[in-house]
Amino acid sequence: MDTQAFQRWLTQLNQLTPRQRSTPRNALLAPESPSLPALRQCPHCQAAASRLAPWGWSRGLRRYRCRERLHTCNALTGTGLARLRKADHWSNYCDALIEGLTVRRAAKACGLSKNTAFRWRHRFLALAAGHVAQHESGIIEADETFFLESFKGQRQLPRVPRQRGGVSVTRGTGPDQIPVLVVRGRSGQTADFQLDKLDAAHVQRALGPLIDTEAVLCTDGAAVYAAFARSTGVTHQVVQARPGRRVREGAFHIQNVNAYHSRLKSWMTRFHGVATRYLPNYLGWRRMLERYQQGIRPDHCIQEAVGRAMQHAIGT
Ligand SMILES: [Zn+2]
Repeated sequence: MDTQAFQRWLTQLNQLTPRQRSTPRNALLAPESPSLPALRQCPHCQAAASRLAPWGWSRGLRRYRCRERLHTCNALTGTGLARLRKADHWSNYCDALIEGLTVRRAAKACGLSKNTAFRWRHRFLALAAGHVAQHESGIIEADETFFLESFKGQRQLPRVPRQRGGVSVTRGTGPDQIPVLVVRGRSGQTADFQLDKLDAAHVQRALGPLIDTEAVLCTDGAAVYAAFARSTGVTHQVVQARPGRRVREGAFHIQNVNAYHSRLKSWMTRFHGVATRYLPNYLGWRRMLERYQQGIRPDHCIQEAVGRAMQHAIGT
């Protein structure tokens, strides 16, 4: 509201009856509700937003009724934040996500229990983690990294437990190493894939829909990438990426993707090993932080949590 309009609004307050005064007073005293994007369609039947009619309020949120099927919804229906309580804590919680706090520290910073802080982490990340580059063109770097398999938090272990955060029993790419393929375009569009297996078929399935046929794919020359390039006709630039060795190929290198791996790994150390079943959420969390860089704010996290991605970064 501009200053003039605000002045006018203030003078009009005098005309309120004593009874009417209590409504704006309560509204001003209520905790600020998080900024939520408007619904673009009915979350139940995908009818256009024009088919949604305001239908009262529920728990501080505007409710809508869909004229198609007469069901109701609000801006959070179908998202990780649906029916999540304590909305006045969400913004603080997003600050904890931005800072990458551990569950214990996030709980303390936001005045939540540890269980709630853990549950919220995965509610906020559920949709955000799906915001990944959909199409990459130009010069693209791809390389894999590995995370130790972890059954953290699971009661029934499918194998003998390892020490917390532990060391792999098989060096390198043993069966307890989970491969994660990271693909990065030169303007920072990033996609990552937690693969069941690092073989040609899995790499093909991951890269096929992502990489433009006119693209130039830079890799360390591993057979899985060569096979992908052969079968799709994508130009493949093999670059030497041994540690400590300078790359002389000019535009063709995999330094960006390798730098991304190392930022991801060093950021993840604070969690002391993450459960493999939650790994996609952590990968998505890191990707979200990288998308917004220093400019990230709590309302970006809330928008991401309700399914609104930063469009130019995911290239859809
Ligand atoms: Zn509907």
